[in-house]
Amino acid sequence: LLRLREGLSRSSNQLSGSIGSIFTARKLDEETLQDFEDVLIRADLGLETALRITDRLSEGRFGRSVSGAEVRGILAQEVEKTLAPVAVPLELDLEKKPHVILVVGVNGTGKTTTIGKLAAKLTRAGLKVTLCAGDTFRAAAVEQLKIWGERTGSEVVAKAIGADAAGLAYEAYDRAIENDSDVLIIDTAGRLQNKTELMAELEKIVRVLQKREPDAPHTVLQTLDATTGQNALQQVEIFRNVAGVNGLVMTKLDGTARGGILVAIAAKHRLPVYFVGVGEGIDDLEPFRAKDFAEAIAG
Ligand code: GDP
Repeated sequence: LLRLREGLSRSSNQLSGSIGSIFTARKLDEETLQDFEDVLIRADLGLETALRITDRLSEGRFGRSVSGAEVRGILAQEVEKTLAPVAVPLELDLEKKPHVILVVGVNGTGKTTTIGKLAAKLTRAGLKVTLCAGDTFRAAAVEQLKIWGERTGSEVVAKAIGADAAGLAYEAYDRAIENDSDVLIIDTAGRLQNKTELMAELEKIVRVLQKREPDAPHTVLQTLDATTGQNALQQVEIFRNVAGVNGLVMTKLDGTARGGILVAIAAKHRLPVYFVGVGEGIDDLEPFRAKDFAEAIAG
């Protein structure tokens, strides 16, 4: 919680600073509301949410003077309202042995690290996990996943660099059945530079998995880097179309995060946010809690 607050302190300092300067000894009028709306949009919350918050603020308060604390309280409440429906735990269908989790996202957003942390959580809960090194383009990604495999006692299915990722995913599925795994987590490449190739590859992975198990992948998890701001919204649009993303993880909320974008993403996509990453360590993956996040943003 502390790290989330520290990570979001840039957003919240900016917000509370601006709120403080807008709402000093001024009565709530059109101009203050417009200034406040601009601040919320600059904080990446999105137009829809910004309008809702300013509407809510002006209700019964128009023409009165309002304190910064009152405004921050309303901001926190409204952000929590948007986030609460998406703050749901990741549920695994363990009858589908293995439950397949495909992890997608732009390179550097924390896919491999999140997979490692998630494998640690699941193995600690007594589940058997197999990892698939599906980013067959980067030697470093494969090596990193192997290290996470050792750390968590999970078998890692990998091949030489340049191998066909879909073929590898298919083999990993078979291997997960052979070794009696409950969960198979598949890493993927995230080269946005070549969108056509990326799309073709992700679609092929999904298609090939579905030959083995029509419902696979059961979870398609996208990682988003909290320091990238507006970019994250576009990334969700792209990967949702390409890979059928049905859940999100926001990473690097311990850094100089710009967490407001998660509010815009929640308002627009309504995808579950299963976890947040708050560091590089094995334990730095936490369930997403709407209230904590909202309070950390509002400052
Ligand atoms: P990938 O390319 O999407 O697989 O991303 P990686 O998992 O390799 O992560 C990229 C970098 O971000 C690495 O240096 C990770 O240690 C770091 N990283 C990932 N998640 C977090 C997080 O929650 N907090 C911080 N501070 N760093 C993270």
